[in-house]
Amino acid sequence: MEHIKNSTAYYVELEERYGAHNYHPLDVVIERGEGVWVTDVEGKRYLDFLSAYSALNQGHAHPKIAKAMIEQAQKVTLTSRAFRNDQLGPFYQELCELTGYEKVLPMNSGAEAVETALKAARKWGYSVKGVPEGQAEIIVCEGNFAGRTISIISFSTEEQYREGFSPYTEGFKIIPYGNADALAAAITPNTVAFLFEPIQGEGGIIVPPDGYLKRVRDICTQNNILMIADEIQTGLGRTGRLFALDHEEVKADVVTLGKALSGGFYPVSAVISREDVLGVFRPGDHGSTFGGNPLACAVARAALRVLIEENMIENAEKMGAYLKAKLQSIRSPHIKEVRGKGLLIGVELHPTSGGARRFCEALQQEGLLCKETHHHIIRFAPPLVITQEQIDWAFERIERVLMMP
Ligand SMILES: *Cc1c(COP(=O)(O)O)cnc(C)c1O
Repeated sequence: MEHIKNSTAYYVELEERYGAHNYHPLDVVIERGEGVWVTDVEGKRYLDFLSAYSALNQGHAHPKIAKAMIEQAQKVTLTSRAFRNDQLGPFYQELCELTGYEKVLPMNSGAEAVETALKAARKWGYSVKGVPEGQAEIIVCEGNFAGRTISIISFSTEEQYREGFSPYTEGFKIIPYGNADALAAAITPNTVAFLFEPIQGEGGIIVPPDGYLKRVRDICTQNNILMIADEIQTGLGRTGRLFALDHEEVKADVVTLGKALSGGFYPVSAVISREDVLGVFRPGDHGSTFGGNPLACAVARAALRVLIEENMIENAEKMGAYLKAKLQSIRSPHIKEVRGKGLLIGVELHPTSGGARRFCEALQQEGLLCKETHHHIIRFAPPLVITQEQIDWAFERIERVLMMP
């Protein structure tokens, strides 16, 4: 190894040499994080404007979540679901009371929560709705992102996510996003569910037209199909409401949660739904060794508590509106559109601007970390604890970078 130990180049080279190259990260090697700030191995400080794709809504290393995690780690971390533990029941109760849903099924990653929701929907279709075995259809949208398992990439419309990974799982039908008429037209007697994101995150911060969520709700109810909202990225305050669904006061039949459910400490995900949906699972139907473990539950309980107690959702709404208005005021020839809700904001650049990555790299030089999505969209999603002064600090740099040639 040529490079000086502990330098950025040293760690980059280790990752490149020994790791699979399934990501193309910015070359910043983070050593510490606190609130909205991270520090790299060379002592340079950055404002985190990505929040690990919204897993860090509560900010880096929130002291109350850290305390809960350490205390639980010293008691018991894993029981498996072969036995019960004293964190699981209280976690269920607190999550249900906060969200207004009846039942919880805990998992680890977001993709697992989505897989669980799809399994629940299929089994509900057969055992409750009466769809003939083997015929269940689930409708999804173009531009969806729900994770990377074989079944989930089977209904992706992103060619790179699928290419080389066939054969695919059957039973999915793809319609345009944000078009309720297309949903109504796609439903057949064998349709069991509609899986969608209330705002498409990885798809490019795509906000559906006003009234879409309500119409989806009505169509799902009228046709007796499950409305499955994937709130893994949009949920838990990110858009300025607890759920993005709340912008239209809509309740889904099934909601998937992940990312910020642990405040970034640990993989924790969950499906929340009704008794008649999650009730289709009998012992042995589904499971996970780590799902619902006491460490995960203690961390999630603390993560939910601080989200509410510290008014992070209200702050996301206020700071999001403030940041979006400022971004919309930039007179840059590169900007095609600024869109989003709360602190989930996309800046779409013109195709002629040379891609979003060079702007993200320039922002890195300026001390602000963010990431492009879909080549020409920059996503801004800072932790929900961000202050107005910190946004002003960030904006000065964003404006400067977006004004470069
Ligand atoms: C991130 C994400 C997932 C997948 O979560 P993982 O923890 O990466 O498996 C699923 N759905 C949406 C909307 C996401 O943003």
